[in-house]
Amino acid sequence: MLISAGCSGNLTYGDIIHHMPVTPTQSPETILNTVFGYQEYKPLQREVIQNVLSQRDTLAIMPTGGGKSLCYQIPALLSPGLTVVVSPLIALMKDQVEQLDALGVPALFLNSSLSFDDYQVNMLLVRSGEIKLLYVAPETLLSPRTLNLLESVTLSCLTIDEAHCISEWGHDFRPEYRQIAQVRKRFPQAVCLALTATATDRVRQDIKDTLAFQDDNEFVASFNRENLMIEVLPKTDPGGQTLAFLQRFPDQSGIIYCFSRKQVDDLTAFLSTKGFSVRAYHAGLSDHERKTNQEDFIRDDVQIIVATIAFGMGINKPNVRFVVHYDLPKSIESYYQEIGRAGRDGLPAHCLLLYSYADVAKLRYFIDQKAESERQVAYLHLNALTNYAESSMCRRVPLLAYFGEKYDDEPCGACDNCLKANDEPEDITIAAQKFLSCVKRTGERFAATHIAHVLLGTDNEKVLKYRHQELSTFGIGKEFTRKQWLHIAQQLIQKGLLEQSNDLYRTLRLTPKGSEVLRSREPVLGIVPQAEKTAAARKKAGEMAYDRDLFALLREKRKDLADAAHVPPYVIFSDRTLVEIAAYYPLTPDSLKRINGIGQVKLERYGDILLDLVQGFCRERGLEEKLPRKGGEARPTRQAVGKPRHVIVAEAYNAGQSISDLMQEYGVKRGTIIDHLAAFTQDGNALRQSEDFLSMLDLPGEQQEAALQAFEQLGSKFLKPVFEQLGGAATYDDLKILRLHFLSSRK
Ligand code: ADP
Ligand code: ZN
Repeated sequence: MLISAGCSGNLTYGDIIHHMPVTPTQSPETILNTVFGYQEYKPLQREVIQNVLSQRDTLAIMPTGGGKSLCYQIPALLSPGLTVVVSPLIALMKDQVEQLDALGVPALFLNSSLSFDDYQVNMLLVRSGEIKLLYVAPETLLSPRTLNLLESVTLSCLTIDEAHCISEWGHDFRPEYRQIAQVRKRFPQAVCLALTATATDRVRQDIKDTLAFQDDNEFVASFNRENLMIEVLPKTDPGGQTLAFLQRFPDQSGIIYCFSRKQVDDLTAFLSTKGFSVRAYHAGLSDHERKTNQEDFIRDDVQIIVATIAFGMGINKPNVRFVVHYDLPKSIESYYQEIGRAGRDGLPAHCLLLYSYADVAKLRYFIDQKAESERQVAYLHLNALTNYAESSMCRRVPLLAYFGEKYDDEPCGACDNCLKANDEPEDITIAAQKFLSCVKRTGERFAATHIAHVLLGTDNEKVLKYRHQELSTFGIGKEFTRKQWLHIAQQLIQKGLLEQSNDLYRTLRLTPKGSEVLRSREPVLGIVPQAEKTAAARKKAGEMAYDRDLFALLREKRKDLADAAHVPPYVIFSDRTLVEIAAYYPLTPDSLKRINGIGQVKLERYGDILLDLVQGFCRERGLEEKLPRKGGEARPTRQAVGKPRHVIVAEAYNAGQSISDLMQEYGVKRGTIIDHLAAFTQDGNALRQSEDFLSMLDLPGEQQEAALQAFEQLGSKFLKPVFEQLGGAATYDDLKILRLHFLSSRK
């Protein structure tokens, strides 16, 4: 017997019972691990789950991607009866049920999208008592038919998703939501959990009042989304800027938001002619077109959706890797929501806003057409947004301030302004020499990208074709990413050490000055975009190094499995799961179990397929498993809101950790730790034993003295004046150390 055409088409009732992997005595942590395949909770999940399991009505406010679903799914599996989840988004119910099916959890939905027969079958299954989770639309919940059904079973938990819909003060008020309060009274034994990602104080209070919740059962997570890289660019050549941006995300999913339907159509056409897999989405299309375009995007059959703001509400695609605002959004709140659709899976995602004053003027014009009462509010929103876009401080500060949250972990390492702040010139002589020598050894016939590949040791087709894997410079530049090498190349060109051909091929050759640098080891100063380089920043952004080839194979396999099961690829495995497999090469079922997102049922269903693939890949390339020992590698955890990084680092230093300890712990170079310590002393704090610093220097005593005097004279805020006064005798790295000595020995 099939459950329903509305959810999984290929899972039988018998399957559900068979796969139900939970016994009531298990702990929430065991379920987290065995059913969902996760090793640790996301912030506040543990607290919310505990609270619900203690039968306390709970309000949880977490950002998109914060992991709200688990907050009721785990209690549902530990409760004797049924958990009902009220949700206004019909499309999302199907998605949730598909995902639970894939985990072997018996779940169903009831809403107007089901045929009469499917509806009846689903009601019967609920009545039988074997279903743990039932998703319903609010109007379905209120119908006598449903209420009778719920009275015939044990209702353990009533979950209200998108709980802000209860409040008239919210942006999405639904009158039926208010009546849920009445339903609660009919089921006094059921605990109630309300969840939302958007709630101002007023809405929050309204939810609690309406549902008669107690104040201390409220959990509010940080709204900072660490994995989002946030960038605002002046809109100078939007088409070209968008193309350049998209080229960085080959084969990856993303959304581009435009202001008008016409703009959507034009940009879609433009990107199509450039060969991108792209579709439009706006209110001018037929329902059918919109649905198809959305569905193809969700199934990874289409890479990019160009849309007006209408797009995104009803989708739950976790692997959206970028969001571009081609035009200005309406307010900070909508901007936050729209960029929030990127990176729900916790992997790095990139958000770009193209900002121009012409767009601001255009919005002003529209606002002026509005009624007086609306106009004022609209102007407030617009002003907040322009302030945000024009600000040179960390983007997270104004963004989170808007939600009443103070962000003080600057530099955040993942916004354009913080990355810029790091751009103090440093000694890049060694990098320059590696690059120049590689240009020379490859015969001065290639562009920067190829040189970067050789330095990184990438054995792609072109490298193999020219046998560049045999060169001595092959693989000697793994300390930087491809992007950083390209950045370095750009600077070598600007400094006149390299010359780029004017044709399509952009090949590089050494200039006489470049040859001189290679021979004489003359120092080269330059900027390496720092925050993206450091392992700590990558960790912070959820990024990890992984095997791109294996990832591509896994992705292909996932697509086949998903198509065969008629579900979106992310239902089979998240990107995070594939990334971890491609990083650790698990070769046994035990190892596979330790990968994020692989629980018992997924292991049973797909374990062999995955192991075959990974084993074959490793055999062919002579690779071994890389999974860290169990219980080893303590992952550095970070608090959502806490002390700034430089204070944490400096306090650890004062507590006795050496600079090299800290370099290792945070995966950064010495200069970065020195910077943190300097910031700490600049706050007026003391550091232990300043002599340590001078011993790091490889600089004659007189020069040290001269530099310290220069700091005395010129101040220590900026290094450049001191650098210039010494005529380059000390490098910037030397000066950073000397400045630290200067600051910490000052009385
Ligand atoms: P929200 O509803 O708050 O937007 P979801 O419940 O959809 O968030 O969760 C977002 C993503 O994070 C999903 O892909 C989910 O599987 C994943 N996730 C949830 N909890 C955890 C966890 N503890 N560890 C790892 N991934 C998790
Ligand atoms: Zn920042």
